[in-house]
Amino acid sequence: MTPTGEQLCYTDAYARSAAATVRHVETGETTVVVLDRTVFYPGGGGQPWDRGLLLRAADGRSWTVRAARKVDGEIVHELEPADGEPPAVGDALEVDLDWARRLALMRTHTALHALCGVVWNDHGALVTGGNMEPGSGRMDFEFESMSGDLVDAIEARVNEELARERDVRVNVLPRDEAFAIPDLIRTKVNLLPPGIEEIRTIEIVGLDLQADGGTHVANTREVGGIRVTGYESKGRINKRIRIELVDPA
Ligand SMILES: [Zn+2]
Repeated sequence: MTPTGEQLCYTDAYARSAAATVRHVETGETTVVVLDRTVFYPGGGGQPWDRGLLLRAADGRSWTVRAARKVDGEIVHELEPADGEPPAVGDALEVDLDWARRLALMRTHTALHALCGVVWNDHGALVTGGNMEPGSGRMDFEFESMSGDLVDAIEARVNEELARERDVRVNVLPRDEAFAIPDLIRTKVNLLPPGIEEIRTIEIVGLDLQADGGTHVANTREVGGIRVTGYESKGRINKRIRIELVDPA
C-alpha cells in the first residue's frame, strides 16, 4: 500500500497553508484530488471538514475545495465543479485553508471540551454526542438532573475555566496506555476498533482529557468565553446543551 500523504491537521493545528504535489486525481460525478501533503481536516468527531483553496502558482489558477474527507486513510479534496479542469498529477500547488473558519472551529471545539470537562468533573455526566459549526455547537449528555439553574452555573464554570488560560495538549499514546486512563472511558475509547494501535488524546491541562481526532487551539485564552444558548431534553436521561462563542475581549 502507498503511504498516505502528510496530514498536518493532526500534528500542527495552526498550519493554514502548505506546499504540495498532486498525487492522484479522479473525475466523475465529483472531482477529487489527493496530495502528498495537506492542511485540510477531513471532518469527524463532530467537527466539520475544512474549506479552502488549491492554488497553482505556475499559471495562477485556483480551485475551491468544497469538501474534504478521509477515504481509506487518505485525505481527499473535493473540488467545486464550476472551477473547470482539475490540476494534473505532479502539479505543484499551494494548499490554503479558509483560516477564519478553521480557527473558529478550533475555538468552538476547545470550548466544547471545556464544557465536557466541567459537566464531567462537577456532575459526573457522560457525553453521548456532539456537533459544531464555526462559533457554535452542542453536546449531549447522560444528565438526568439537568435544569435551567444548573445550566447557568455550568456556563459560569466553563467561563471560569477558560479564563484560567489552560494549555491544550495533543498526545499520541499506545492503545494500552490510553485504556489505562480512567477518564478516557467516558468518551467511549473502548468502542475503537481493535486494529487501532495508537490513540490521540486532547488534554486541557487540569480540566479535561479525551480521545479525539479534531483540531483545537493551544490555550483556553484563545477561546474567549461561551454563552449557553439553549438546552433541551432528548428523553428522561439524555440532555442537550447548546453554546456559542463569545469573542475574547
Ligand atoms: Zn473533540
